[in-house]
Amino acid sequence: MSGSRRRKTRTVSVGRVKIGSGHPVVVQSMTSSDTRNSYKTLKQIKELHDCGCELVRVAVPDEEAALALKAVAASSPLPVIADIHFDYRLALMAIRNGAAGIRINPGNIGGISGVKKIIDLAKDYGVCIRIGVNAGSLEKDLRGLREKSLAEAMAASALRHLEVFEGAGFHNLKVSLKASDVLETVRAYQLLAGRTTCPFHLGVTEAGTLVSGTVKSALGIGILLYQGIGDTIRVSLTAPPREEIPVAYEILRGLGLRNRGVEIISCPTCGRCQIDLLPLVRRVERAVRRIKSPLKVAVMGCVVNGPGEAREADVGIAGGKGAGLLFARGKLLRKVPEADLITALMGEIERRVGEDKNNN
Ligand code: SF4
Repeated sequence: MSGSRRRKTRTVSVGRVKIGSGHPVVVQSMTSSDTRNSYKTLKQIKELHDCGCELVRVAVPDEEAALALKAVAASSPLPVIADIHFDYRLALMAIRNGAAGIRINPGNIGGISGVKKIIDLAKDYGVCIRIGVNAGSLEKDLRGLREKSLAEAMAASALRHLEVFEGAGFHNLKVSLKASDVLETVRAYQLLAGRTTCPFHLGVTEAGTLVSGTVKSALGIGILLYQGIGDTIRVSLTAPPREEIPVAYEILRGLGLRNRGVEIISCPTCGRCQIDLLPLVRRVERAVRRIKSPLKVAVMGCVVNGPGEAREADVGIAGGKGAGLLFARGKLLRKVPEADLITALMGEIERRVGEDKNNN
């Protein structure tokens, strides 16, 4: 899908990162470390940055975390978003301590006067605010609507908050509508999409472990992106944060929205496979994680579909008996013994990456 089919949204800035329909869909994640431990938090942020994450959110549950944010934001390679609940004063501290964005749920942050103080300071510091509506904490007066339709209640809550922020002349805003139910989440974003030009942060909350979280996120985020809805995404998994990034890029790649890093084409293997393919694919996957250049790498079990896929890819192997055929840019290079396949494959991948860099 081309960018022209994306829902038109205005551009907002989180530090140097621009978000909106005039820009590629931005990939973000959240640290799982205790933010008060700035060393561990920065270590995770650097890991995320190396995997291609573009924005990072950290939890700021108390004053100590808001203080630690200063060191984190100062050394972070990514703009840092502070995630704040219940106490608007923490949001003010986070802004003063270098957060490029903050995420709040205006419904639980301490009343309209607190929200107004956040707006004023965010304006002064040029900080972006995400209005994070969550199905678990909707306003009491929306209970009736919620019983009829959770999606409508979430959209109504977002519109209400948007009115407050935009009424105060604040437009450096994003909105998210999160529920653990995929279809309610999708419906809520669809309902809101036609009623504001505010960029959307997409995610399915509490999505689950690597498998269930990946599936739910791919469905929820994927359906919306396919419809042109969504400007930044976070895949949430109960797993180390770095695991979220390849999933996010696979979703974007599958929809033709971004093409970053190595795409691995591998077969499921079957009774014809005569090399130990699974550990080989896993080793390749780990080894290519930090590569940014878009490359297609095929790791195939046998000569049925192997040579075809390997020829189509930038680099590929097709397994044989205790050996594999190595291909690069459509040409068969040589036959490699199984024990040397990973070295040969990685050598070719590095060569392609080097060529790409020289050409750019
Ligand atoms: S490429 Fe070969 S080993 Fe892999 S699934 Fe197909 S037939 Fe089986």
